[in-house]
Amino acid sequence: MKTRFLASLAALLTTPLAASEPVMFCERPLTAQPIAENTWMVEGLREELSTSNCGHIGNQAFIATPNGVILIDSGSSPVFGEALKAVIAQHTPHHVRWVLNTHHHPDHFFGNAAFGEAEHLTLASTRRLMARDREALINNVERLTGRSLARSHIGLPDTIEAGEVTLGSYPLTLYAMSGHSGGDLVIMDHATEVLFLGDMGFYQRAAATAHSPGLQQWQTELNELRGLNARIAVPGHGPSAPPNTVLEQTAHYLAWLDQHLSNAASEGLGANHALAIEIPDAFNTIALTEYEFTRSVMQLYPHYEARLLWGAPQ
Ligand SMILES: [Zn+2]
Repeated sequence: MKTRFLASLAALLTTPLAASEPVMFCERPLTAQPIAENTWMVEGLREELSTSNCGHIGNQAFIATPNGVILIDSGSSPVFGEALKAVIAQHTPHHVRWVLNTHHHPDHFFGNAAFGEAEHLTLASTRRLMARDREALINNVERLTGRSLARSHIGLPDTIEAGEVTLGSYPLTLYAMSGHSGGDLVIMDHATEVLFLGDMGFYQRAAATAHSPGLQQWQTELNELRGLNARIAVPGHGPSAPPNTVLEQTAHYLAWLDQHLSNAASEGLGANHALAIEIPDAFNTIALTEYEFTRSVMQLYPHYEARLLWGAPQ
């Protein structure tokens, strides 16, 4: 009796401790938060790539299904992917069987190598961009995080078509979009009503626009996403929130940016003058607004000037 009591006491003491032992990445605990039944997200820091965050800036999410785990995005390095794998193991005994990559930016697919047993899948448009930019993106991540990546381990996923798909026995609806990066996968889980936006949605962290084919294209697609019947959205950066909250904030910021760049171009201002503007208070609580605004002016403003002069597409 006493032995059994001691044994169960020992189990009580050891099990929660073992389960709660934190996974560390870049000297910080890495944790997943539940957002719906069998669904978790790991939120990245609302920062740009740097040595102090070791590249942990993008969000990941995972769904534990009876046939294995579906992982959505994998972080910015194989080393991060290993830490993510350990976090997933804290929540489900199942292994990752599918990795879906939402777009070609390195903070969303460079961790794939840690999930070598899984199928890696993305849109064909995204895969083309990954192939085109892979070397430059690796160089960029290495330079900004000060860490060398296992370069040869960073491979390209296979392709999957948009529409209704079944992974194992688990149904998802995939949408092919392009507004943020030229190839953006958005995933709807009707069972839990969770919408995984990738970087089509930024929340409490300013939108990065470097590879957008045009801010108006992005807005059109955000409107399409508003029509979906979801309860919670996981943005590519920032916390989860009701879909309209995330989509509204992204759309509001992009509309302001688009208007500002159009106005500055029609007034014939140079890029330096386009930069010299007070950012509206509404965006003050959003991380990295000034940083992303500066980058957007440098990257997008020449297109606005050209469009005005030559009628070229944005
Ligand atoms: Zn991102």
